[in-house]
Amino acid sequence: MQLEDGGSSKGVRPRVVIVGGGFGGISTARGLRSTPVDVLLIDRQNHHVFQPLLYQVATASLASADIAAPIRRILHKQTHTMVAMAEVTGIDLGGRRVLTWCSTRGELAVPYDYLVIATGVEQSYFGHDEFAAFAPGLKSAVDAEAVRSKILSAYERAEVEADPAQHRDLLTFVLVGAGPTGVELAGAIAEMAKVTVKSDFRRVDPRMTRILLLDAGPRILASFDESLAQKAHARLTRMGVEIQTKAMVEHIDEKGVVVGGQRIISQNVLWTAGVKASPAGSWLRADTDRSGRVHIGSDLTLPGRPEIFVIGDTATLEENGKPLPGLLRSRSSKGSMSPVPSPLRWPGRRYRRHSTTPTGETSRSSGGTLPCSNLTA
Ligand SMILES: Cc1cc2nc3c(=O)[nH]c(=O)nc-3n(C[C@H](O)[C@H](O)[C@H](O)COP(=O)(O)OP(=O)(O)OC[C@H]3O[C@@H](n4cnc5c(N)ncnc54)[C@H](O)[C@@H]3O)c2cc1C
Repeated sequence: MQLEDGGSSKGVRPRVVIVGGGFGGISTARGLRSTPVDVLLIDRQNHHVFQPLLYQVATASLASADIAAPIRRILHKQTHTMVAMAEVTGIDLGGRRVLTWCSTRGELAVPYDYLVIATGVEQSYFGHDEFAAFAPGLKSAVDAEAVRSKILSAYERAEVEADPAQHRDLLTFVLVGAGPTGVELAGAIAEMAKVTVKSDFRRVDPRMTRILLLDAGPRILASFDESLAQKAHARLTRMGVEIQTKAMVEHIDEKGVVVGGQRIISQNVLWTAGVKASPAGSWLRADTDRSGRVHIGSDLTLPGRPEIFVIGDTATLEENGKPLPGLLRSRSSKGSMSPVPSPLRWPGRRYRRHSTTPTGETSRSSGGTLPCSNLTA
């Protein structure tokens, strides 16, 4: 199969192009393993990252290689499936081609018969990209390593600081945003301080760690049931996390954050506030929600485009008038992670929900750039 090959128009099997090798893309490719189509999965990275374990990498209980697996290794048994590492830059809807950019071959237009968009979400600083230099987010393995470095460096700096009065500021962690990522990360840092590194230092007591979880809204976990949010709030408080709601962060710099005109000194600010969808909505000229997620039909297709499916975090699906949260479980149980778009299902086969653990996959990421010429076979 060549990247530039046509699909059914050339008299061969229909070609399904999947953009994104995250949960949605991999599930779709796996679900098509017995379907008489040629599958091409394109991702800007050559490895899949198990995002629910990013906290463990960020808090040093796992290495990033433990939560990543080469996409081509995951799909290696599927001989009709090819994996290409390239950046998707747009979709030519009329010509049914995916527009890509590849480091060695430049721009390439890849034809499709069916297209599955599963490009997930990206970090959003809500128009304040300048905050990124001081407050890393947690969306990729690289982010998780940056967060880990920030956390461990804080303890190292405190250990060599002779003035104990400075320890409190050095060990103050500020998490901006109390959605699922902020809540989980706050808990993971608290656990790390009390358990993992508790006896590793001599001058500082990691149990002095101060964790502030800030959110502009009236409560934590805004997209979850209130009762669940209350339980999480109570549990975090028991773990020593200080939660401040209705706390709008106005500024972040090297000295810390400014909230409601008050400065909080901290060199350990972490951004857990927001995400925006990939630019898929504009590629497809589609109707999107405020975060850029594409509105789709219940069959996961783009309205008016039965050959295009948008799945996973890139899409928005409502339940009882509320969008489903960007969680694997909520989406797969409601079908928006459905790996096999219905028109492509092999007769008599049902789609399999993929595992929510990374077990069974090679836990090693293969770095480096593959030349695009090697991606044709
Ligand atoms: C820290 C963290 C913890 C989480 N914990 C949980 C949890 O405990 N439980 C739960 O259910 N969910 C959890 N989630 C959410 C879950 O990970 C997502 O719902 C899921 O990953 C969405 O899958 P996806 O396929 O839509 O997108 P992703 O898994 O994000 O995959 C998108 C893929 O598209 C690729 N891509 C994007 N743009 C392009 C482009 N232009 N060109 C080429 N490739 C591109 C990316 O490289 C990526 O591989 C967590 C998320 C995070 C960040």
